[in-house]
Amino acid sequence: MHNSAEKPIINRYQTFGIVGRPVIQGNLDVSHGTVLYMEDVSVSFDGFKALNNLSLYIDDGELRCLIGPNGAGKTTLMDVITGKTRPDSGSVYFGQTINLLEMDEPAIAQAGICRKFQKPSVFENLTVFENLELSLKAGKGAWATLFATLDAEQYDRIDEVLEIIAMTSLRFQPAGILSHGQKQWLEIGMLLAQEPRVMLVDEPVAGMTHQEIDRTAELLLSLQGKHSVIVVEHDMEFVRSIANKVTVLHEGSVLTEGSMDEVQNDPRVIQVYLGE
Ligand code: ADP
Ligand code: MG
Repeated sequence: MHNSAEKPIINRYQTFGIVGRPVIQGNLDVSHGTVLYMEDVSVSFDGFKALNNLSLYIDDGELRCLIGPNGAGKTTLMDVITGKTRPDSGSVYFGQTINLLEMDEPAIAQAGICRKFQKPSVFENLTVFENLELSLKAGKGAWATLFATLDAEQYDRIDEVLEIIAMTSLRFQPAGILSHGQKQWLEIGMLLAQEPRVMLVDEPVAGMTHQEIDRTAELLLSLQGKHSVIVVEHDMEFVRSIANKVTVLHEGSVLTEGSMDEVQNDPRVIQVYLGE
C-alpha cells in the first residue's frame, strides 16, 4: 500500500493517450490457459492480515465460486484484482504478461476486468437499451462520443447482450419499472456490453426470488467459455447449482479448492463454517 510513494505507478496504456481495448487484449497472453494469477498476496489493515499469502489461479473462461465465512477476505481479494486495494506483497497478473499491480483502477477496467457490485446502479429514467448503450460507450472510454449514434457493430453487440440476459422484449422499457432481478441482469448486461474478459460478481442473488435465482444461475453458466467469472455468494444452494470449482477462503488464505461436494465434505471447511 505504501509502494506507490516509492515507485510511481506507470500506466503504460494511458500514456498512449487513447485507450483501445483491442490493443490491450492483444497483449493478453492466456497461452497457458490461465487468465488471472495471484501469488503470495498479502494485505494488512493496521497489522491485521485481511489476505495472508493468498495464491489463486483462474482459468480462461471458467466460472469460479468463491465462498468463505464473513471476514475471510473475499471482498479484499476483489479489491486487489480491480486495483482498489494495493497489496503489501505478492503478485497479480492478468494473463502471462500484464502486471495488474502497475495499473490503476480505470486502466484495469479498461483492460477487461470488471466488477459488479451488489447494489444495482442502472439509470432508472433511461430505457434498457439506453443503459446498455451508455455502458458500452463509457466502457470504451468514449465519453466524447456518448451522444453519437451507434455503429452497426455496437448495435449488434447490444442485441447480443439483450439476448444473453433474456431482456430483448424489455429493450424500450425504462429501467425504473424493472423488478429487482431484472435490474441485476441489466447490470450484468451493462458489463457484458463492454466485453470483459474477467467479471467479478459480488452476491448476485441477494434479495432475489427463487425463480430469479434460477435465471441468474442460467445466465452466469451461459457466460462460461467466453468470460471468466468469479462469483462470491453466500447462498450455498445457488453455488451448488453453478459450481464447477469452488474456492474456500479462510483468514485471508485459500483453505481448499474443489468441487462443491469435495469442499462441503472437507472437515476443515465444516469446522470453519461451524465456528462462524
Ligand atoms: P469478506 O468479504 O470475506 O467478509 P473482507 O475482505 O471484507 O471479508 O474483510 C477481511 C477482513 O479485513 C475483515 O476482518 C475486515 O474486518 C478487515 N477489513 C476489510 N477492509 C478493511 C479496512 N478498510 N480497514 C480495516 N479492516 C478491514
Ligand atoms: Mg465481503
